[in-house]
Amino acid sequence: MSSDVVIQASFQYKGECNTDTVVELQELKVLKEIENFCNGGEEEMDPITDIQDIMPALQRQKPPNSLLLWCNLYPTRATVSRGRPNRHKLCRRCETAIETISHISGCCPFVKNARIKCHNRITDQLQKHVSKYGWTSYMEPRLFAKDGSLWKPDLILKKEQKIAVVDVTVQYENDSKAVEMAWREKSDKYKHLNAEVMELTGGLEPKHFGFIMGIRGKRLGMNNCLVKFLGIERFETFAQKTSRLTLSLTLKLLQLFNDK
Ligand SMILES: [Zn+2]
Repeated sequence: MSSDVVIQASFQYKGECNTDTVVELQELKVLKEIENFCNGGEEEMDPITDIQDIMPALQRQKPPNSLLLWCNLYPTRATVSRGRPNRHKLCRRCETAIETISHISGCCPFVKNARIKCHNRITDQLQKHVSKYGWTSYMEPRLFAKDGSLWKPDLILKKEQKIAVVDVTVQYENDSKAVEMAWREKSDKYKHLNAEVMELTGGLEPKHFGFIMGIRGKRLGMNNCLVKFLGIERFETFAQKTSRLTLSLTLKLLQLFNDK
């Protein structure tokens, strides 16, 4: 089957037409990704889709950027130069790394402000949501460790004697092991500040959590530890809202990156 047919079917799949073709194409990776998207993206992450074969068709079809990003098909210099050794691969903005989604969303200095804004919006949204459940928030409190160094955890939550120290991260979710490692790092980041956190909040035995959102809007299972600790029921609606916020802020960041 030609790549054009695959792509046309894929991008008509979201509630429009072409049902018969789609049924025949269920096994294809691109469609499976889209189906996951339509169903809320609960499945485990897949490795990057190889776009080399279908890139020409993609460029003709101009599907929505949100779908491209979700399917790992968003064009960057790294992806469009695959199989073309003479094409530029370095970031068009900073020229310090290969231009990948991971670089643009996670490191590129050109979009640093947009990256901070995205992080802060997600932290705000989390804080507002948990406040409905009686948690008091401390946003970026300034804490001094015993060696005099200054630390600013994203969010400390306190209810009765319970304390949660939360580090929010927005990360490219292509590599599930890397995401899990990041979550563990985030969970350990402020453990040396337990005495200071207890003094600030008046609570006891702080627990530490990462809260990781995937830039493509995928929901990651490790956030459930925090949700469980906070005793939040019906977290699903909030998780969906936050996924969509993350995806839309990432798209804005990419637009800023691409703007002439
Ligand atoms: Zn760059």
